[in-house]
Amino acid sequence: MPIKNQFSELFEHIKTWRHHIHQNPELMYDTIETSKFVETKLKEFGCDEVLTGIGRTGVVALIEGKKNISGKVIGLRADMDALPIQEQTNLDYSSNNPGVMHACGHDGHTAMLLGAAKYLADTRNFNGKVALIFQPAEEGGGGAKEMIEDGLVEKFNIQEFYGMHNMPGLELGRFSIKSGDFFAAADTFIIRIVGKGGHAAKPQETIDPILISSNLVMSLQSIASRNINPTKDVVVSVCTFQTDTVSYNVIPEIVTLKGTLRTFDKDVQNNAKDKIFSLSKSIAEAYGGKAEIEFNYGYPVMKNSVDDTEIAMSVAEKVTGKKTLNAEKIMGAEDFSYMLNSAKGAYILIGNGDTPSVHSPTYIFNDEILPIGSSYWAELVETKLQL
Ligand SMILES: [Zn+2]
Ligand SMILES: [Zn+2]
Repeated sequence: MPIKNQFSELFEHIKTWRHHIHQNPELMYDTIETSKFVETKLKEFGCDEVLTGIGRTGVVALIEGKKNISGKVIGLRADMDALPIQEQTNLDYSSNNPGVMHACGHDGHTAMLLGAAKYLADTRNFNGKVALIFQPAEEGGGGAKEMIEDGLVEKFNIQEFYGMHNMPGLELGRFSIKSGDFFAAADTFIIRIVGKGGHAAKPQETIDPILISSNLVMSLQSIASRNINPTKDVVVSVCTFQTDTVSYNVIPEIVTLKGTLRTFDKDVQNNAKDKIFSLSKSIAEAYGGKAEIEFNYGYPVMKNSVDDTEIAMSVAEKVTGKKTLNAEKIMGAEDFSYMLNSAKGAYILIGNGDTPSVHSPTYIFNDEILPIGSSYWAELVETKLQL
């Protein structure tokens, strides 16, 4: 079965909503106008309940099916926040907000879920309830966690969560999913290497933190290659190397390194973390310096349930008429993991075609996938909550 007819008719509206959201991007929890826009639409569609302020600026709408004897409630989630990027797409609906851009397609995710909300509120061909979840702060703010801590599961009695993200490089409108471990846990670390600054021409009087840090950056790569079982997944990336000088003839006092650890396995995570500490300390000390380390646990592993993955796959196939692809594990992170840790469910990818990657200033969400994504949501509800 192809895209639901109603979504072909709704297409122009969904596109207009997306362009409006795209033009007015907001960061993190500051999705004030976006949340208001979403709230207004959901009320206009006649959803049974529309609640705001869940997880600060999160919005949740509840729609009851024609029947509600199953007692089942499923949650569909879209993210609403943008990124601190200066848009370079030259679109006629480019960002009105300098330095802020919907470069991850969350405008599209929000519009697709609004499309589904309109359809579900109109038709109600299901048995149970659907919670439509519009989340702020996916990009590093843990908005999903805040919504969970605000009682999302208990308030609405949600038993299953479903999420969707567009994927550049994946065939336009094609779905891809993986059962079990899907997105990695993402932790961050800051290492301050403290040496002794001085004149570049008198290195013997200094403790050079650049030399120590250079050695350390190289050594941190031995964690993946020499400490962790090669059959396990791990990434250690140092992404910032910053001195406290701007000169070409002063040896700095301090170098700050910032980076990220990506893992799927608790033991691997603990071993790699311990090794980051021990290497930093011992290498700094070997050169007469000192290491100060800060390690922060980030988004946990995102795991799809086996049976919900199978259902998501077949729903996607029904919508597109094409086989759903088996995705590989992704070392990126998703805060939807907090929802999947609170209840079972599945997260799926929808192909955005051959476009620049997400988080690029030239990234463009492809409008052609809007009705496909909305249809997936609608079909998923009618399948999971069959009349
Ligand atoms: Zn993103
Ligand atoms: Zn995203």
